[in-house]
Amino acid sequence: MEQMICENLSVGRNGNLYFAGQDTAELAAKFGTPLYLMDEQRIRERCRTYLRAMQAAFPGKSRVLYAAKAAAFKRIFAIMREEGMDVDIVSSGELHTALKAGFPAERMWLHSNNKTDEDLEYAIANGVGCIVADNLEELAAADRIAARHGVRQKILLRLTPGIDPHTFAAVATGKVDSKFGFGIETGAADEALQTALRLPNLDTIGFHCHVGSQLFDSDVYIRSAELMLHYMAKAKREYGFVTRHLDLGGGYGVRYVMSQPTIDLSVCIAQLGAYVRRGCAALELPLPTVGLEPGRSIVADAGLTLYTVGMVKKIPGFVNYVSVDGGMSDNPRYALYGAEYTVLPATRMNEPREQISTVVGRCCESGDVIQPDVPLPATMARGDLLAVCTTGAYNYSMASNYNRIPRPPVVMVNASGSYVAVRRETWDDLIRLDE
Ligand code: PLP
Repeated sequence: MEQMICENLSVGRNGNLYFAGQDTAELAAKFGTPLYLMDEQRIRERCRTYLRAMQAAFPGKSRVLYAAKAAAFKRIFAIMREEGMDVDIVSSGELHTALKAGFPAERMWLHSNNKTDEDLEYAIANGVGCIVADNLEELAAADRIAARHGVRQKILLRLTPGIDPHTFAAVATGKVDSKFGFGIETGAADEALQTALRLPNLDTIGFHCHVGSQLFDSDVYIRSAELMLHYMAKAKREYGFVTRHLDLGGGYGVRYVMSQPTIDLSVCIAQLGAYVRRGCAALELPLPTVGLEPGRSIVADAGLTLYTVGMVKKIPGFVNYVSVDGGMSDNPRYALYGAEYTVLPATRMNEPREQISTVVGRCCESGDVIQPDVPLPATMARGDLLAVCTTGAYNYSMASNYNRIPRPPVVMVNASGSYVAVRRETWDDLIRLDE
C-alpha cells in the first residue's frame, strides 16, 4: 500500500484518492475544480495539540495564536474561536474578517511591519487585545490614537534576535537585516523599549519574535528563546522592565514531500517549555505568559487542491507538461520560492507513475509552474483529476485574480459531509469593482 504524505489521505477500492474519508472525484463532481478542500477535523486536532502542549509547558500561562495569514476567511476564524485559540492578524482586512466572524477582538494580536494609521485606528477602536509594534513611527501613532480613544493600549515590541533559521530567504524574518522588528544587536530594541515606556497611552507587556517559517530544527526556537530571555534580563536590569508576556512566534515546519521530516509538536513544545522555565529561574525573571503563533502547522496538511487536467504535452527528449485548470493564481508558492509539493493522480492512483512531468497552470506566464518532476501515469489525459497535497496554508490566502481567473471555493470536509466555507468567485465578482 502506498505510503501517503498525510494520514488524511488514502486510496479507495475504485483507485481514487480519498481525502478526509471522502472520494475526491465525488467532491470534484459536486463542487467543480479547481477546488480547495480543507479537513476540518485535522485543523481542530492541530489546535488542540498546540493548546494541550502549551498548557502542559506553561500551566495557566500560555496563549496559542493562529497566524491567520496562512488562511483567512470567516469560517476559519469561527473554528479558532470554538477551539479557544487567539489569532494573529496583520491587516485591517484580516481584522474585519475576524470581527465579522464573531471573533472576540480582545483575543486578537495585530502584527505587520507597516501598520497604517487606518489599521491602528480600526484596531484600537475595536478593542484589539494587543498590538505587536514593529517600529518607532508606529509606537508614536499608536500612542496618539489610543489617547484619542481614551484607552491604554497593550503592546508587545517585536524584536529581531539576529538568527539565521536556514529556510527560504523570503520567509526568514529574524535576521538582523530583516525588515521586521527592532534589532537586539543594533541597539534598536533598547531605544524602542525606552520610547514605549515613556508613552503614556501604551501598556508595554513584553516582547515578540518570529525567526522564520517552515522550520524543522527545534534548536532554532531554543536559540531564539535564549536570546529573548537574555534581553528580558537586560530590560529588567537596565530599565526596571518586567516582562509579562513573551511571544516566540510561529514557524514549525510541515512535511510537503516525503523527504522532509515530521515534527512532534508536543515534544518540541515540551522542550521549549522546560528551557524557558529553567532560563527564567536562572536569570531570576518571573515566568511570563508565553505565546506561540503557528499558521502553517495548523492548516497546511489539512488542505488539498483538486484540479482537472487539460493539455498533456510531450516534447520528446525534453519535458512532459501536464496542465491544470488553475495555477499560480491559486498557488503561487512554487513560482515565488520554489516550494515543493506532492502531486497525485487523484483518479489513477493504482497506475504506475513512470512519466516524469511538469505540472503547469493556465496563466500566461512560463513561470506558472505548480511543480516540476512529478511522477505521473503515462496515461494522464484531459479530464483526469490531479491533487496537490498540503495546500491549506498560504494558498487561498496568497491567491490572486491574475489573468482574471476566478478564485476557487474553499470547501470544508468533515465527518458529516462537506460544505462551502468560501464560495467560488464568478466572472461577475471579477468586475464587481470596475467602474
Ligand atoms: N508570526 C509571524 C510574525 C509571521 O510572520 C508568521 C509567518 O510568516 C507566522 C507567525 C506564522 O508562521 P508559520 O505559518 O510558519 O507558522
